[in-house]
Amino acid sequence: MNAIINKEINKEEKIKKIKNGTVIDHIEGGKVFSVLKILNIDENYKGIVSVVINAESKKYGKKDVVKVEGRILTKDETNKIALLSARATVNVIADSNVTEKYKVEIPEEINNLLKCPNLECITNSALENIETKMFRFSKKPLKFRCHYCERVFSELEFK
Ligand SMILES: [Zn+2]
Repeated sequence: MNAIINKEINKEEKIKKIKNGTVIDHIEGGKVFSVLKILNIDENYKGIVSVVINAESKKYGKKDVVKVEGRILTKDETNKIALLSARATVNVIADSNVTEKYKVEIPEEINNLLKCPNLECITNSALENIETKMFRFSKKPLKFRCHYCERVFSELEFK
């Protein structure tokens, strides 16, 4: 029992170790690569980013963690993560203290990230080059409405 508690404490300390920045915690195991993609963090990114894959989580079994140093991610950026892992939480760190903590939430408007499943939709036309725009239609069950064809969908794929 003590060993487990110590492990949890160590993990918390590890997360707090970044001095300033944003820690995205409790990401579903294996989803971290898609999370980095959604945050536009790739080989060209200049800042320091630490990634933890398949860390032990008492609550969920396994989790991934992303620590972005020296940068406060906006809610517009982090809420997109809810499309991949609804259980993710965001910790904003300033001077080694957690100054803000929140759960990601599906954004009200999602631009150019999801495909419209309606093949007749103008966003799927090869002739037009129109970015998709989806609105959150309902939270439970989760549904989206396409701005262009106005149809409502429950399951969407990424572009
Ligand atoms: Zn559409």
